[in-house]
Amino acid sequence: MIIISTNVLTQLHDLIKGSQSMQREVCALLFGKKSVNYQINEIEAIPNRARSSNRFHIGRDDYESCIKRHKRDLIGIFHTHLNGESSLSVADKQQIKKTKCLWLIGVCEKTIVKAYTFDEEKQDIISIQIPNQRC
Ligand SMILES: [Zn+2]
Repeated sequence: MIIISTNVLTQLHDLIKGSQSMQREVCALLFGKKSVNYQINEIEAIPNRARSSNRFHIGRDDYESCIKRHKRDLIGIFHTHLNGESSLSVADKQQIKKTKCLWLIGVCEKTIVKAYTFDEEKQDIISIQIPNQRC
């Protein structure tokens, strides 16, 4: 399960709306802690260097300076899907397997957030529930 504060959820929804109006994928880093559940306390939008409507790229310098600004642990990455697709792309799957971090997808049109991660026990990608999501 993922616990997202209302404040963070509002920010995610704003990013989704912004992504839709710009017609460009938007990405952000997620900070908090991981124990039994994931807890997301802070997010920071980070430039999508790919400047694309169907992919994203996070620059190393952007990534490192963002990490330095936060005291909490980096636990995941957020990006948007402009095509309204809530499932993972091939590239997403590769990145989850590589990073093993929490992967949040903001689905434009529906303005919802979907969450995935790599489950070590199952050795597979699993979807995780976000209980306080508004829709
Ligand atoms: Zn994606």
